[in-house]
Amino acid sequence: MSRYWTSLEDLYSENLLTESSEIETVAREFQIKVSPTMQAQMADSKGGDYDALVRQFVPSKEEANILPSELDDPIGDRRFSPAPGVVHRYEDRALLKITQLCEVYCRFCFRKEMIGQKGETLSKPDLALAMEYFRAHKELWEVILTGGDPLVLSARRLAEALDALVEIDHIKSIRIHTRIPVISPEKITDELLNLLESIVDRGKALTIVLHANHASEFSLSARKALLALRKRGVLLISQSVLLKGVNDSLPVLTDLMRTLIENGVKPYYLHQMDLARGTSHFVVENERGIALVNALRESVSGICVPRLIIEIPEGEGKRVLA
Ligand SMILES: *Cc1c(COP(=O)(O)O)cnc(C)c1O
Ligand code: SF4
Repeated sequence: MSRYWTSLEDLYSENLLTESSEIETVAREFQIKVSPTMQAQMADSKGGDYDALVRQFVPSKEEANILPSELDDPIGDRRFSPAPGVVHRYEDRALLKITQLCEVYCRFCFRKEMIGQKGETLSKPDLALAMEYFRAHKELWEVILTGGDPLVLSARRLAEALDALVEIDHIKSIRIHTRIPVISPEKITDELLNLLESIVDRGKALTIVLHANHASEFSLSARKALLALRKRGVLLISQSVLLKGVNDSLPVLTDLMRTLIENGVKPYYLHQMDLARGTSHFVVENERGIALVNALRESVSGICVPRLIIEIPEGEGKRVLA
């Protein structure tokens, strides 16, 4: 299996979906993409684990159910964008949305409206404008590459951004938000590892925030990719999204958080869902989320416990729930 699934036809032929007009409507609005590694993990997993993967990546009719409370820019990014791809909302750190492409299109993604659009990788002139902004803002201590998934870019393209950031004295910490070490571990190439190690060697802290939601995502090759990253001096932490029918139970969360630590990844954030369009079927009530994290804190090693976070709509930022 070395092809991506990118269309309804691919999913029909795998018997993951049956044809219907509702699903055709959903597919016209939101992109489909499932990486070969996730296809293999689906084939290997059984029972509930299989559903946890299918639910994350295979579209469902429920996505056509768009509620008035759901927003096309749920976390209010647009209000805080002073330069192309830049979101500067917190004083000492800013996001750089370097590409809108990903290796998988997650059905619950809060950037659903933007991701997977053609031509949505920052152009060289736009990247230069973003760097100019970072250079001018001395209060910035950290730049966070996000998207989309920054690691879809070639090592050469990434180097253009990372080398420019390394040159900025007041930027001490560079973060990369990605699903790729787990979703498409073959993309953690020696060329990429050399590039990342060179950032560390040049005196910057380099942190990868791995997005993972279920222990069954972790293939043997994913585990190897994470180990390779650690060996190059990259700090690994995680973010997960609390998703109904995927990971909203104590045993599943326990398994996920322990799997992260077993692979050298410190659980950082567990996110409550943002209200992106067509995602209400994934929502776990706040009280339940809080109860789950409190139960986790009581039953597992302290290093396995993330913080439960909610994003307040309209750009007011993050709040800790538990
Ligand atoms: C989440 C977020 C960050 C990073 O926040 P941390 O709490 O430091 O992980 C930075 N900028 C924006 C706009 C964000 O939404
Ligand atoms: S990898 Fe991240 S940005 Fe891409 S679709 Fe999934 S959640 Fe969204």
